[in-house]
Amino acid sequence: MKVLFVASECTPIAKVGGLGDVIGALPKSLLELGCDVRIALPKYKVINEKEYPLKLVASGVKVFDQKVMVFQTPLPQSKVLVYLLENKKYFGQNDIYFERSGFVGSFKEIQRFLFFSQAVLNVLPFLNWQPDILHCNDWHTAIVALLLKNIKTLLTIHNLANQGKCGAKEVFDFLGFKAKEEGEFNILKQGILNADILSTVSPGYSKEIQTEEFGEGLEKEFLKRKKDLYGILNGIDNSRFNPEIDSCLKKNYSLKNLDKKIENKIHLQEILKFKQNPKVPLIGFIGRLTFQKGIDLIIKVAPELVEQNCQMVVLGVGEKHYEQELSVLSQLYPKNISVNIKFDALLAQKIYAGSDIFLMPSRFEPCGLGQLISMAYGNLPLVRKTGGLADTVENGKTGFVFEKYSQHDFLSCLKKALEIYQDRKKWQKLMRNAMKKDFSWQNSAQKYLNLYKKLL
Ligand code: ADP
Repeated sequence: MKVLFVASECTPIAKVGGLGDVIGALPKSLLELGCDVRIALPKYKVINEKEYPLKLVASGVKVFDQKVMVFQTPLPQSKVLVYLLENKKYFGQNDIYFERSGFVGSFKEIQRFLFFSQAVLNVLPFLNWQPDILHCNDWHTAIVALLLKNIKTLLTIHNLANQGKCGAKEVFDFLGFKAKEEGEFNILKQGILNADILSTVSPGYSKEIQTEEFGEGLEKEFLKRKKDLYGILNGIDNSRFNPEIDSCLKKNYSLKNLDKKIENKIHLQEILKFKQNPKVPLIGFIGRLTFQKGIDLIIKVAPELVEQNCQMVVLGVGEKHYEQELSVLSQLYPKNISVNIKFDALLAQKIYAGSDIFLMPSRFEPCGLGQLISMAYGNLPLVRKTGGLADTVENGKTGFVFEKYSQHDFLSCLKKALEIYQDRKKWQKLMRNAMKKDFSWQNSAQKYLNLYKKLL
């Protein structure tokens, strides 16, 4: 069975968030199950060519009025092949996305991904390898399901917040269609209506999106496609997110020598210029600083956490006002709060290993990887009961869960966690429970394989 993943991100080649982690890991597990999987990705300007051995496999492929070159490189630490599509006009400028906070609806970005989607289809006859299935991901490549007629498609929705909305006329003109449609065009919606099978990244979220509260205006479409909609939980890449072998850590550790985790905490406190004291609770947050992630709740409870003698580290980029408000907090409380407005994969690993509690008070969360990674590192997640967070964190067993999106409920959950933190024995029991959880990709990869079989 041959499957081509078509996506906008793939860790470590081009990553912004969880989508990249999934595309960089799931294909490896599928390959182990005997599925011939490859990945197609734009060759963005930010991809460092020196890091990847590139082999030219096609050139001069016509896409609209442009030419595309295709390079092939193995996904690091695996045999999965990645096709990088090169075109200066559409992929040669800017970052992966045009705005740090994610998609803001610019037509330039829509053009980039419409072009990429069409380019993948035009390039296929030149690859010497024909997929049985195209596995599309999010709005960026959802249009493939509409453009393609002779190959089966699976569309996975990682995040509904961005849908690729724009004027219908602009899209049809760009794609060279004759249609004279006016009004709005929603790329993701077209993918939902046209893909052969749909999936999303947790069972909980697959149910939530059929409701008005979480459907982001597409709940009717999901209800229409209900029998073709599946929820498969994301996993994490054990070869990357594993405290026993993670080369980013000061000291590797596992369930067998948990005490070594403390050395990572002391190291992190040193980096952040905090007082080095293993007894002080260290609370971490890593993620996009957006409305979805509940950043306003974190900002609101921060002074109380300082009051409780906690240390807190935030790592992320996103909406300007959150970046500013968080930076003000770190200036007010430099001994207790460290705010790092950047993307930094190395610091992220140090935070996963060095902190005690990991915050994810999200408004909604399709799956969430932060809580899975933090559990693997014995860093207890404190999450809101929504989507994939509700599916993966057990309150009082592997982490802490609060239900209502309110400062009061968030804070009282935090206080409960801090109370348990004082009881070392109890805390270590929870850490062990979390670290024993298996969130590897094997199980979920088998479920994707079953979907592929259904498609054929
Ligand atoms: P989302 O996909 O909504 O961004 P997830 O929790 O599913 O959120 O995945 C986020 C992934 O991106 C995690 O691996 C997290 O560690 C990583 N990440 C997010 N922001 C940063 C950052 N500023 N620096 C390093 N890693 C980050």
